[in-house]
Amino acid sequence: MSSSDMKIITVIGSGLIGRSWAMVFASGGYSVKIYDNQPGQSAKAIVELKKELQELEEAQMLRGELTAAQQVALISSYDDLTQALEGAFFVQECVFEQLEVKQNIFQDIERLVGKDVILSSSTSCLVPSNVFSKVQNRSRCLVSHPVNPPYYVKLVELVPHPETAATVMDTTHTLMTKVGQAPVRLRKEIDGFSLNRVQAAIIAESWRQVQDGIISVKDIDLVMSEGLGMRYAFIGPMETMHLNAPEGLEDYMKRYGPGIQRVLTSFGPVPDFCGEGSKGIINEMCELIPSDQQHLSASKDRRDQLLMGLAKLKKDHRPSEDLN
Ligand code: NAD
Repeated sequence: MSSSDMKIITVIGSGLIGRSWAMVFASGGYSVKIYDNQPGQSAKAIVELKKELQELEEAQMLRGELTAAQQVALISSYDDLTQALEGAFFVQECVFEQLEVKQNIFQDIERLVGKDVILSSSTSCLVPSNVFSKVQNRSRCLVSHPVNPPYYVKLVELVPHPETAATVMDTTHTLMTKVGQAPVRLRKEIDGFSLNRVQAAIIAESWRQVQDGIISVKDIDLVMSEGLGMRYAFIGPMETMHLNAPEGLEDYMKRYGPGIQRVLTSFGPVPDFCGEGSKGIINEMCELIPSDQQHLSASKDRRDQLLMGLAKLKKDHRPSEDLN
């Protein structure tokens, strides 16, 4: 496929993530065709996108080189799958997180596109070998798992099916980089991918500490937001350790490795997040932020404002490999 053929991307599903992907791809100058199986849904999504892109432009947070109007002009809506797929070199699926729904839509898509078209799923929790089990040619399939909201949180986990071609991983990595995302490659599929496995470890230990009466809900959140999170917005755990001993990572592990191993052996079992014991934790959280829509929406808006500010700051940050 020549680069002149690589201009159109089809987004399947026009919910939260579908709309975000459309904005990200349009910011990179791609024509984006949005399809949703609920008639009128993708047209509605464009109205919302337009408003969002204009607000981003006003806040000087619009991504890419094009104006909001130019980006909106790149996005079109379809109620017909065949028309939506016409001309696309890349398909990003964003339908409900239900295995059968995803399996069926990929089966339908494969019948309607050429053999070189890349089929990519946004799934959060389903492994590629299950998602693509009804696709005949699985070498063109992968998961591109975004983080919500993808417009500000740029990580995308690229997870191959056991049969995914290396060129498909490379092309997707190039595309994601070009549109300003931060892609990482998993070398093989695993339940939870990378991000959710790390997140699950943090959730489990936070839960145990609160449940065991060691710390409050409010304070465990401060441990992350005012402690670990300060560094993790810019450098990960590996680089953090490398920089935290006079002679780097090996030195760090000689000094602190045995302590980390000792602490790890004291970790408790997997918590029961829904049982009786969880009620106290949930109540404590709801005292801080009541779980009605008004309070949750206000906190989500605050979160997105803060993420926008952080994204602005990170724009000026160059990864350490660029400093060599
Ligand atoms: P959503 O419920 O907001 O949107 C799903 C959309 O898909 C709806 O508009 C629905 O009408 C449409 N749809 C359903 N079945 C369809 C079909 N067969 N054909 C075409 N359209 C169909 O969901 P979402 O939050 O946008 O999530 C979409 C995907 O992204 C899921 O797989 C989810 O796991 C993943 N994801 C979500 C998040 C998140 O935080 N929301 C983060 C990362 C990945």
